[in-house]
Amino acid sequence: MQENATAHLRSRCRLCTAPLRHSFVDLGLSPLCQTHIEPEQLGAPESFYPLHALLCDRCWLVQLEEFVAPSEIFSEYAYFSSYADSWVEHARRYVEKMCKEFAIGRDGLVVEIASNDGYLLQHFVARDVPVLGVEPAVNVAKSAIEKGVRTEVLFFGREAAAMLAARYGQPDLLLGNNVLAHVPDLNDFVTGMKLLLKPGGVITMEFPHLLRLIEGNQFDTIYHEHFSYFSFLTAHRVFAQHGLRLFDVEELSTHGGSLRIYGQHDDDMSRLPTDRVTELLARERSLGYESLEPYQRFGEQVRETKRKVLEFLIMAKRAGKQIAGYGAPGKGNTLLNYCGIRTDFLDYTVDRNPYKQGKFTPGTRIPILHPDKIRETRPDYIFVLPWNLAGEIMQQLAYVREWGAKFVIPIPSLRVV
Ligand SMILES: [Zn+2]
Repeated sequence: MQENATAHLRSRCRLCTAPLRHSFVDLGLSPLCQTHIEPEQLGAPESFYPLHALLCDRCWLVQLEEFVAPSEIFSEYAYFSSYADSWVEHARRYVEKMCKEFAIGRDGLVVEIASNDGYLLQHFVARDVPVLGVEPAVNVAKSAIEKGVRTEVLFFGREAAAMLAARYGQPDLLLGNNVLAHVPDLNDFVTGMKLLLKPGGVITMEFPHLLRLIEGNQFDTIYHEHFSYFSFLTAHRVFAQHGLRLFDVEELSTHGGSLRIYGQHDDDMSRLPTDRVTELLARERSLGYESLEPYQRFGEQVRETKRKVLEFLIMAKRAGKQIAGYGAPGKGNTLLNYCGIRTDFLDYTVDRNPYKQGKFTPGTRIPILHPDKIRETRPDYIFVLPWNLAGEIMQQLAYVREWGAKFVIPIPSLRVV
């Protein structure tokens, strides 16, 4: 007992090595969120790991301890970006913008780290821009190559950067979306970016914004695969430490609120930092993100959310209602495990990704079925797990109104629509 309570005192910040002395939120024990259970594994036990986010009071990085090697988590990944329509469209608009703003053309090179199934690079390919994807998961990389997206299967870092630069040359645009959070060795990763980027080149990265996580109560975006959670202040510091300057930033609505940062070599004077950079740094400072206060309120807010979600589910089940889940995303598993929601509340969940269908959610073992099951069983409520895509999902499932079903969106605070 005492061991557990003080265990985190032994860990150190993955960025600045200061001892981690503060809890951000303790979500109990959870299995790895991408380890969906096969029917024949239902009789077997599962491994649960502490899901306790800690705060560094020197660099303000919110982080999880690393319990499992990334090679175990990411070598076969069930997340195919192409299954979310809005995500593919987001990528298309990004590519259009980059080609225009930074004159990326046929004589350039674009490298994407964690290129997934090529959902983004395919839009550069369509414009005849040479691309290279870097993706550690063999199965999703294979799907990219089938789309005609040149892809190397490897983990990115300093060593990989040197190899890639020698083999393919340095990129004019180096991007990485939703990868920074997954990186166990941040210093090695950003050093790799510095090495690989062409002089005069541009880096863009997108990652969930810690401010929005806190303000939007998005505790379910905390899971073992996400090692780090960044404010702009902390991101700015990480890149500066490695000789890269962030010259622009955009606040996006993706994943419940993300940042897109723009970086360049710090000796590159061709672009000056925009007002958006100074404004966001100042805003985060004035909100206290370089002090303990905003971080320390979060835990109780999360516990209250759990009580509210369970209150609704208990009430609905007592009234004899049938509830189906929608989606089996990583964030869903944090919510289900933390709140203890199993088939006692959700009869099943559905997912468009055929890779997940026929399996069961990790830890909570809710069957994941084809979306057609909803039309067949006509549930009273659809409990939407990927709440960040709620708009898109409610459109796709507009037909459930035929029998008067309602949507339940649990985050930021439970809504019945
Ligand atoms: Zn630190």
